[in-house]
Amino acid sequence: MYIISSKNMLLKAQRGGYAVPAFNIHNLETMQVVVETAAEMRSPLILAGTPGTYSYAGTGNVVAIAANLAKEWDLPLAIHLDHHETLDDIRQKVHAGIRSVMIDGSHFPFEENVALVKSVVDFSHRYDASVEAELGRLGGVEDDLVVDAKDALYTNPAQAQEFIARTGIDSLAVAIGTAHGLYHHEPKLDFERLAAIRDCVDVPLVLHGASGLPESDIRRAISLGVCKVNVATELKIAFSDALKHYLLENPQASDPRHYMQPAKAAMKEVVRKVIRDCGCEGQL
Ligand SMILES: [Zn+2]
Repeated sequence: MYIISSKNMLLKAQRGGYAVPAFNIHNLETMQVVVETAAEMRSPLILAGTPGTYSYAGTGNVVAIAANLAKEWDLPLAIHLDHHETLDDIRQKVHAGIRSVMIDGSHFPFEENVALVKSVVDFSHRYDASVEAELGRLGGVEDDLVVDAKDALYTNPAQAQEFIARTGIDSLAVAIGTAHGLYHHEPKLDFERLAAIRDCVDVPLVLHGASGLPESDIRRAISLGVCKVNVATELKIAFSDALKHYLLENPQASDPRHYMQPAKAAMKEVVRKVIRDCGCEGQL
C-alpha cells in the first residue's frame, strides 16, 4: 500500500519532535514537485486537497497520480481531505482510496461539531483512515471558506480535551492566531494557549495557515506539540509568479513542457524550505 493514513506518521512526529508538512496540491505538476522533493529529502509527506481541488482535478485522478508517484519514488504518503464538511463527501473519497480525513465542523456550535465529527470518526476508523477535526476558528480565506478575522475564536483547552474524548479523533487543528491566505500584518500566535492545549490533550496538534509564518514561529509551535503544518498559499504564489514571469518574458511560449519548468522549480524551493522548517528531513 502506497497511500496510507496519517495517524502513525503524526504519532512518530510527536515522538520525534518534528512536524509533517501537508502541502496543498492542485495538478500533476504540483504533485510531481512535492513528491519528488520529499523523496529526495527523505521526508514524510501529506498531500492535501480541499473539496474544490478534488472537484477540479478529479478524485480518481489525484489518487491514481499520487499512488503512482509514491510507488515510483518509494515514498508511502497520505492523501488528505483538507476542510471537508460532510460525511457523504468523505465516504465517497475514502471509498476511492483516501485514508486521511479532515472533517471541519468548526463553524457549528460545539454539540453539533461533536456529533458530526463522531459520525466521521466512526465511519473512517473502520477503513483505518485517520481523522483530524478543528475546534475554534481560523481567520482568512481558503477557497470559499471565509471567516471574518475579528470573529475568529481561538481553541479553548478544556473544551479541546472534552472534544477529543467524545469524538475519538486522531489529531486536532487548533486556532491560536494563524489565518488562511496571506498575512497583511505580522501574525501574533498565542503560544501560551498552545502550551495549555498541549497540557490538556495527547493527540498530535495541527497548525493551519502556516504560509508566511516566520521559521521561528513554526519551530516554536512544533516544540509545543504541533505535528502537522499545512502550507497552501505559499506554494500557489511561488508557482504562479514564476509562470507569469516566464510567460511575460517569453510571449511566444506555448509548450507546457517548457513553461511549467520555472514554475515547478520555484515551487520546489518553497517545499524544500518548509521541509527544513518542519525538521522532518531524513525522518522517513
Ligand atoms: Zn486550513
